[in-house]
Amino acid sequence: IIWQEADLIRNEFPILKQTVNGRPLVYLDNGATTQKPVSVIRSMQEYYTTYNSNVHRGVHTLSQQATAAYEAARHQVAAFIGAHHHEVVFTKGTTDAINLVANGFRKDILKEGDEVIISAMEHHSNIVPWQLACEEKNAKVKVVPINEKGELDMDKFRSMLNSRVKIVAITWVSNTMGTVNPVKEIISLAHEQGIPVLLDAAQAAAHIPIRVHELDVDFLALSGHKLFGPTGIGILYGKESWLDKLPPYQGGGDMIKHVTFEKTTYNEPPLKFEAGTPAICEAIGLGAAVAWASKLGIHRINAYEHQLTEYAINALRGIPGLRFIGEAKHRSGAISFLVGDTHPSDVGVLLDQQGIAVRTGHHCTQPLCDLFGIPGTVRASLAVYNNTEDIDRLVEGVQKAVTLLG
Ligand code: PMP
Repeated sequence: IIWQEADLIRNEFPILKQTVNGRPLVYLDNGATTQKPVSVIRSMQEYYTTYNSNVHRGVHTLSQQATAAYEAARHQVAAFIGAHHHEVVFTKGTTDAINLVANGFRKDILKEGDEVIISAMEHHSNIVPWQLACEEKNAKVKVVPINEKGELDMDKFRSMLNSRVKIVAITWVSNTMGTVNPVKEIISLAHEQGIPVLLDAAQAAAHIPIRVHELDVDFLALSGHKLFGPTGIGILYGKESWLDKLPPYQGGGDMIKHVTFEKTTYNEPPLKFEAGTPAICEAIGLGAAVAWASKLGIHRINAYEHQLTEYAINALRGIPGLRFIGEAKHRSGAISFLVGDTHPSDVGVLLDQQGIAVRTGHHCTQPLCDLFGIPGTVRASLAVYNNTEDIDRLVEGVQKAVTLLG
């Protein structure tokens, strides 16, 4: 159905109407950040032009309006992921959300000899926070390997689960290869042994329906800017019992119940984790973004992108010397490739000269690139406003770049 609406959808993204280097912009860097529809831009402009004010503390009208809008955004995001609103903590983004959880585990849960399971395809933001936590407690980060197609080795994963494992932290979708991991199976296997699971949903949120309660996931992190919303805002979903158990991340205003110099008591979650003035405008923008995506329907977005991805893979396959990095059966969003012995960044620069935006390099997954023995990839990553013309331009652009590079 979206095929017929494609032009209308695209029309809602003013940024896509420009030319770059003399050609109509083809934006295929959605894995890095998505563009924003007018409804999101307007919601943020409205906040600053009519009710900019601090939240939670004011008795005056504007402050109450700002508080209501900020909390309404929390409800919108909660509905979007199938959570209760009090299970949604506003963070700066996915990185911040994962650090919040890793910090809590470092402080109160991990002990010497414990293990944290991640995977070989993690973004640095789901590697380094766990390394920092484990280093301090003499615990170990264990890595689930992948096969040559870029899929998790689930037999190995099963064999790695034991009583020393305190958390499994895994990405839902690989930002480099587009692999969609079997998260339901991962969660039920971990839960059979009483192990909690954190999902990095940064690359899932704009593409795959998220129902946290149905999944029974313990924690889930996502970034607003990869979901048609602004930067500087994201969320951590945490089961109520976990948010009660985890210690505060940062101290300051809003996260307290009562402060004396001798002892401070903390606010209830989610405010326990929201120290200081939050990113109010950005939260409101994120609320508008999930409203926009929900109206379109993530199921429909998913079905459309599935077809567009197939189209792109088939079209790219026709380029002589092109090889894909990551050929998982279940995939979403990102398509990574290399052509002959051309360097990814050379291809990226030549695509930019033709008005085509892709990302090149290691995509913050250096260990994954090391596994494949490559410096990085050229990555085209899709969103719902992309169409087959974008893909045709990409294919033509890559062919031209390769010719120029000899
Ligand atoms: N995880 C994945 C899979 C990502 O793709 C990204 C962003 N590229 C992140 C985490 C980090 O997100 P952010 O930079 O918005 O915190």
